[in-house]
Amino acid sequence: MGPTVMKFGGTSVQDAEAFARVAEIVKGEGANSPVVVTSAMSKVTDALLGAFDLAKRGAVEDAVLSLEPHLERHREVALKLLDEAGRRLFRVELEFAEKELGDLLMRVSRRSLPLSMLKDAIVSYGEQLSSRLLALVCTNAGLNARHVDSRRLIVTDEEYGAAAPIFAETEKLVRLELSDTIAGGEVPVMGGFIAASRSGETTTLGRGGSDYSAAIVGASLGAREIQIWTDVTGVLTCDPRICPTARTLKTLSYEEAAELAYFGAKVLHPKTIQPAVDQKIPVRVCNSHQPAERGTMILPQTETTPRKVKSIAYKKGITILRISSARMLGAFGFMSAIFQIFERHRVVIDVVTTSEVSVSLTLDNTDALDAVVKDLERIGTVEVVPDNAVVCVVGFGLRGASGVASEVFDAISEYNISLISHGASSVNLTFVVKQDVVTDVVKRLHDEFFG
Ligand code: ADP
Ligand code: ASP
Ligand code: MG
Repeated sequence: MGPTVMKFGGTSVQDAEAFARVAEIVKGEGANSPVVVTSAMSKVTDALLGAFDLAKRGAVEDAVLSLEPHLERHREVALKLLDEAGRRLFRVELEFAEKELGDLLMRVSRRSLPLSMLKDAIVSYGEQLSSRLLALVCTNAGLNARHVDSRRLIVTDEEYGAAAPIFAETEKLVRLELSDTIAGGEVPVMGGFIAASRSGETTTLGRGGSDYSAAIVGASLGAREIQIWTDVTGVLTCDPRICPTARTLKTLSYEEAAELAYFGAKVLHPKTIQPAVDQKIPVRVCNSHQPAERGTMILPQTETTPRKVKSIAYKKGITILRISSARMLGAFGFMSAIFQIFERHRVVIDVVTTSEVSVSLTLDNTDALDAVVKDLERIGTVEVVPDNAVVCVVGFGLRGASGVASEVFDAISEYNISLISHGASSVNLTFVVKQDVVTDVVKRLHDEFFG
């Protein structure tokens, strides 16, 4: 049986109380060889990014000052939970981090290295510090814990800010570094989100990427289970911040979970499921504030529910592009010409619908929009419609079920809906609405199916 990989999110390590709770949860898993992956303390990543922006504008002193309260939060945890030896060890870490961050912020203002590289180096201190602190807290709580620097295990390309892991190399390193540790009864504690390129530069996996780190480590070790510990009890029927009556789902399939995550259910990073799928590792999403509750099990397969719909996700900030061309009528090669443009600019498309003479598609990243539109205009006329949202209704068996689509659209008949996509995946029905009505639409649907 492989180990249990346990990932704790930012709110699960937000203060001393939360750190202490995590150590108890890890102890509870003691017999199953836990491997711990932690996020930065809540709000720390945002603060580091804020400091980077200040330094970019030349305000290095303000940037350094803005981080002080967050470093203080780490200090407080150490003071409350560590013995004198532990505090001394962590004080050295904090002093080092403070100095390094000051240097890096200065480099940002002087542009002395590429900014994207400096940004990752700076933002990595959230997980560098939280993981070192958590390892010490676990040791103090009686666990045989050992801090492991994730940058020695997870190898990525050099796409700073959203680096892609190189799986074969990562798997080898994870096994090499962790197998003996685990076999020797030690509990490895590592930071999520952070990694390194082949040349050793610090990289990060994208916001919310600690889930992904846990899945990568879990797959590399053939884990018995990957646990995602967060601030809600599992994957719910909807984001509880929108629908307070949302309920926990007992099980979900990999496919359902992947669609929900991709279309905005923040509880899981969109890439989390993939590494688990190949080896059929169960992923459990559970609540570090209510550790006795089981949460949601994400498994290769799951049962269907009577009304088919299991959960509703949504993603704001979506731009629609409509490309029309009379030349498209009966022509081949048109689609391929369009998609090649997106490929060339490395732009990801979410939803696509077509008619005889036009193609509509959605983007959630508009960094390269102007360049894409310029190229598309060589093919046809292009309309750009910003401020939309994608709604994704998920449930096993949705494609084959009769009547579910009409139930969905009847419930929200007063809203203008575009780009409906149904049947491309067997588990989802996706459509686009204007961003300013999306929460009303989601609430209405939640009332209809779970009210
Ligand atoms: P962590 O810091 O633990 O990674 P996140 O903030 O990334 O936590 O994810 C947890 C949050 O995801 C919840 O607080 C909740 O508001 C949000 N969320 C969105 N959709 C869902 C859903 N379907 N089920 C559960 N939580 C959801
Ligand atoms: N700390 C990172 C973030 O806030 C990664 C994570 O928490 O998963 O995005
Ligand atoms: Mg998260």
